[in-house]
Amino acid sequence: MCLRGKDWMDTKAFKRSLNSSDHYHRKGFGHDAEVADAMQSEYQSNLVQEIRDNNYVLKRGAVTIRLAEAFGFCWGVERAVAMAYETRQQFPTEKIWITNEIIHNPSVNERLRDMNVQFIEVVNGQKDFSGVAGGDVVILPAFGASVQEMQFLSDRGCTIVDTTCPWVSKVWNTVEKHKKGDHTSIIHGKYNHEETIATSSFAGKYLIVLNLDQAQYVADYILNGGDRDEFLAKFKKAYSEGFDPDVDLDRIGIANQTTMLKGETEQIGKLFERTMMRKYGTHNLNEHFLSFNTICDATQERQDAMFDLVKEKLDLMVVIGGYNSSNTTHLQEIAIERNIPSFHIDSDQRIKAGNRIEHKPLHRDLEVVENWLPEGELVIGITSGASTPDKVVEAVLEKIFALKAASPALQG
Ligand code: SF4
Repeated sequence: MCLRGKDWMDTKAFKRSLNSSDHYHRKGFGHDAEVADAMQSEYQSNLVQEIRDNNYVLKRGAVTIRLAEAFGFCWGVERAVAMAYETRQQFPTEKIWITNEIIHNPSVNERLRDMNVQFIEVVNGQKDFSGVAGGDVVILPAFGASVQEMQFLSDRGCTIVDTTCPWVSKVWNTVEKHKKGDHTSIIHGKYNHEETIATSSFAGKYLIVLNLDQAQYVADYILNGGDRDEFLAKFKKAYSEGFDPDVDLDRIGIANQTTMLKGETEQIGKLFERTMMRKYGTHNLNEHFLSFNTICDATQERQDAMFDLVKEKLDLMVVIGGYNSSNTTHLQEIAIERNIPSFHIDSDQRIKAGNRIEHKPLHRDLEVVENWLPEGELVIGITSGASTPDKVVEAVLEKIFALKAASPALQG
């Protein structure tokens, strides 16, 4: 069932009616204390806390670990997971679904499966809602869901528990403002990322740009015109139905996927501000250009901490997080730009006996690297994405310590 089609619904009116419905919940259900205990024991780590308390450094044997000063679970993710746990308590016998991974972390999603929360399956590239019945409870994940999905679930008579992070909702409000002013939303993001799919569903006209290169292409087109067919081919799947670059780029607003590199989002915003100023003059800028700060604090803090960490002398980096987690990939990018050997793994299981690691190089498929831990004294930088529990970080650290300790050759 394709629920992505743009049907120009009044998204604001729909959200208003949803907010007033008894079957729509955006807050927990008062089971915070029990849930906090469960989350503490399942996701927190004493070892990681010890490193935090020790100025983010730990030396064991020949290995020194330097932890980024901001990493791991952000409050939006913690809140979403806690709400999912509370939902199970609140509806002990109902069938509970989730429209997507609650967050991009395999261990957390596995835990929800254990609690008998079912994931909507994707069949032939489309979500299959056929098993969802009226009266079922459906959780929307931290990165949100499209307005068409929400409407479908509401019409079917489901109880909706919406864990969408308020930072993501802030971006949705921003694109609503663009729509009101008849501005095309230029969204810095990945067109097939769930958050951007949700954001674009709230927008009127939109165009999604992945990076500064694509933004520059659009800016050049605004100033100098160009080949319309080439433009539309280049941004295939990344614009709203009926979008015409010759007509729809005279009034634009900026929005973003909250987990993109914040420096790039800022540069893209400034590029379009300059572009519209050149084209329409400073006095007319407000009529043609809208920009609000919607970069999430947690993403910003984790990226800033990573920029600080890579200033240290590191032999290598291990970046821990789900492979489809956008914010984790961006942390990996920062290490690679500094030419630091960097390994992106999603769990300790990727570290294998015999000094082998299965990791995901940037923009490539999984790869096994032999002898990834060098001999002798080592300084290893560690960070983790916003969806990664500290327990997973601890398991990775223990594997590294054990590997190094078990091999006399690696001791140097
Ligand atoms: S990374 Fe930011 S936007 Fe995403 S869930 Fe966390 S706090 Fe919310």
